[in-house]
Amino acid sequence: MSVLVIDVGTTGLRAAIVTRDGVVEHLRYEKCAPTSPFPGLVEFDARAMADAVLRVASEVLSLSGPVDGVGITTQRASTVMWDARTMQPLAPGLGWQDLRTVGECIGARAEHGLVLAPNQTATKAKWLLSNTAIDDRSNVRIGTIDSWVAAVLSGGALHVTDHSNAAVTGLFTLDTMDWSPRICELMGVDVEMLPRIVPSSGVVGHATALVGAPPISCLIGDQQSSLVGQGCIAPGQTKITFGTGGMLDVATGDTPPKSAQRSSGGTFPIVAHSSAQTISYGAEAIMLSAGSNVEWLCDDLGLIDTPSDSDTVAASVPTTDGVVYVPALLGLGTPKWDYGARGTLLGITRGTTRAHIVRAVLEGIAHRGADLVDAARTDTGCSITSLRIDGGMSRNTTFVQALANASGLPVEVSPVTEATTLGAGFLAGVGVGTWKSLGEAVRTWSPRQTVAPTGQLDRETWREALSRASGWIPELSGLDF
Ligand code: ADP
Repeated sequence: MSVLVIDVGTTGLRAAIVTRDGVVEHLRYEKCAPTSPFPGLVEFDARAMADAVLRVASEVLSLSGPVDGVGITTQRASTVMWDARTMQPLAPGLGWQDLRTVGECIGARAEHGLVLAPNQTATKAKWLLSNTAIDDRSNVRIGTIDSWVAAVLSGGALHVTDHSNAAVTGLFTLDTMDWSPRICELMGVDVEMLPRIVPSSGVVGHATALVGAPPISCLIGDQQSSLVGQGCIAPGQTKITFGTGGMLDVATGDTPPKSAQRSSGGTFPIVAHSSAQTISYGAEAIMLSAGSNVEWLCDDLGLIDTPSDSDTVAASVPTTDGVVYVPALLGLGTPKWDYGARGTLLGITRGTTRAHIVRAVLEGIAHRGADLVDAARTDTGCSITSLRIDGGMSRNTTFVQALANASGLPVEVSPVTEATTLGAGFLAGVGVGTWKSLGEAVRTWSPRQTVAPTGQLDRETWREALSRASGWIPELSGLDF
């Protein structure tokens, strides 16, 4: 028994098979990057994305043979508007990083007390509806990428999204676990344009555009999928994905959060995943830059040739010799959201070498990881006793050791660099009976490696460095989303 997973990321998409043993096979990847017609604007061609999804999915199925189900996991909040009759997009897709609606967000807060961020769907939907010539609103469909992919795979029969994706759109309310009529009205969105909200795991229709028309049995946001794909389903189980940016997600159990807004420690409540019987919640903490700091070392400073060189170069010195780096290239996220903070390098002497700087960069990202853990503990009250990690930086042993030493926690490294695919595989498999429960599915998971702390990084000096990096551009530091 096996399932097909379609995983649409921000810069590329992949399809793969997840087997009953929890193994990822026949992975196929295609680049599918958004464009930026102007700084701050991020658009994508939803039709080209759909064609690429069909290509990679068909290719994988031709290698694997029939599957029992299909799981869809995607970047969240990016928004597509299409015509139900033609299945053609009515406008460019708006990427989650698109900032054109910053003004709308400030206005919604000032006029209606509504807290929305430009990277959520709500103001993107408003912008699309206000800036597109529409002949008949009854045929307009709006959705996030999971919705669009489900529509494409089902030949237009489905217009659905799951709780994990819906809950981060800004159009959803935890009170009813459904679209908020008030927010929809304020955004000028007819609720009929939005998808039906379905459980993350369970059959919702069939992928008639694929050979054999397998059942679609999972829709899930990418970070939630990576959480499940690292076996984190019990309260307190925590993962961090260290890619270009870094995302911590912690499972908190079946009790709904008190509010959908950002908590005092700078984390956000999330729906982790849902089934017909239960909804499981979590919290998310965000570092705006992680691996991008390593790219900066390679591409701009030229201190190293490839990101993986950072491992050996940093390991060539035992400490940073007092150098501290704060990785705030785009500002700081959790715990104290500060868009005006900037990257900071402190403690340089005539004796500082490139190895010290490279090590300081890896340790700075590790300190940020520990900050996210502290914030998740504060906001959720969960006891976090170990960390699971995936993403490109999880391959870097010097970094992983620094993370264990900064957080004081054992770090379990994911057996697959991208755990996202595995999570949607588990949920899709549970949806069609491959496993009896999610608990049974995640028992197939075990870490590639567990790294225990061997010392303690200096957190006090780190906090001082963080305060020096904060508030550098006061106008941006004043923004609050
Ligand atoms: P994303 O999914 O965000 O595109 P990935 O999980 O593929 O990111 O990770 C890519 C990022 O990880 C890049 O920013 C790169 O600099 C960093 N990276 C990749 N391999 C390593 C490594 N061995 N050591 C440190 N950083 C790495």
